[in-house]
Amino acid sequence: MANTKAFSINSLVRENIRQVVPYSSARDEYGGDEGIFLDANENAFGSVTSTLYNRYPDPYQKAVKAEISAYKGVMPENIFLGNGSDEGIDLLIRAFCNPGQDNIIYMPPTYGMYKVSAQINNIACRAVPLTAEYQLDTAAIQEATDEHSKIIFICSPNNPSGNLMKPDHIYNILNHFNGLVVIDEAYIDFVPEASFLPVIAEYPNLVVLQTFSKVWGLAGIRLGMLFADPELIRILNKIKPPYNINSVTQQVALEAFQNPEQKQEYVKRILEEKAWLQNALQQLSLVERIYPSDANFLLVKMHNAHQVYEYLSQHAIVVRDRSNVQYCEDCLRITVGTRQENEALTAALKQYK
Ligand SMILES: *Cc1c(COP(=O)(O)O)cnc(C)c1O
Repeated sequence: MANTKAFSINSLVRENIRQVVPYSSARDEYGGDEGIFLDANENAFGSVTSTLYNRYPDPYQKAVKAEISAYKGVMPENIFLGNGSDEGIDLLIRAFCNPGQDNIIYMPPTYGMYKVSAQINNIACRAVPLTAEYQLDTAAIQEATDEHSKIIFICSPNNPSGNLMKPDHIYNILNHFNGLVVIDEAYIDFVPEASFLPVIAEYPNLVVLQTFSKVWGLAGIRLGMLFADPELIRILNKIKPPYNINSVTQQVALEAFQNPEQKQEYVKRILEEKAWLQNALQQLSLVERIYPSDANFLLVKMHNAHQVYEYLSQHAIVVRDRSNVQYCEDCLRITVGTRQENEALTAALKQYK
């Protein structure tokens, strides 16, 4: 199955990026953890807070990567950490797409950041809509790509539709496309068996994105994982802001790995609640359709979705209005909450006239 075509990260990367000599701190050059550090103009006496933060964080987050490596079964050299997945998306575009010349491919309806990041970087976006079943249209994707197409973004499970993309479609793209194939697996903890992480070594053009923002319950610390070929990781390390992951985030991430069972417990509870919510919503006459979901949210088609959204908002219940998004007409995206929150939502919907 592996991509047998000659694929070289170094011929894909932008020429100016290839030539960047990265910022190097004195501590990078020293290498050790112990010593008298008079190199970085920090405050040697301490911090104004009770916890000490006076030292710059580890720029390569070695301790956190060691935990992720052991937990996920990948080498630390396969891991890049970003200030949220969004930083990974932005750095990939900046490393591989020449402004005003190259393009990215994305499949709406999907996560908004691929397009926004591309637009900020002056990279053309080619939209190849998902099919009516929210699956990849591989023929249309192939049709849309040319020699300036550098990245295809695939979101699986997809936000906002909630479903997984078919694996043979993804393999088809991985095997035929000569640029990067980024699979955004933000919701993969709900369907771990569908992850493409296990084949990362077989496809040098594969990039997998995962995040601490969803089931780990750590959206506030801003930590995203990017997995890829070590050569690609080296390029991202070269162009990232040197201290992109702060000390607090690194400490909290280490704490998370003290108790990963808690994450599994959350997966179970959220899936139970999803079933409850799905069932409760199905009873309501205003609900037309609930799309199959492999994630922690439901895409729900209903009469007058926008008015329902406004009504819920007036009752201090905030859902995501996707009703004016192409291919999501009359749909709201509803995150699975606690039982109490889900009951409040369904009770309010029952009252809606
Ligand atoms: C929530 C989400 C993310 C997470 O982004 P972070 O920057 O890591 O918080 C990434 N991709 C998709 C599709 C998401 O829904």
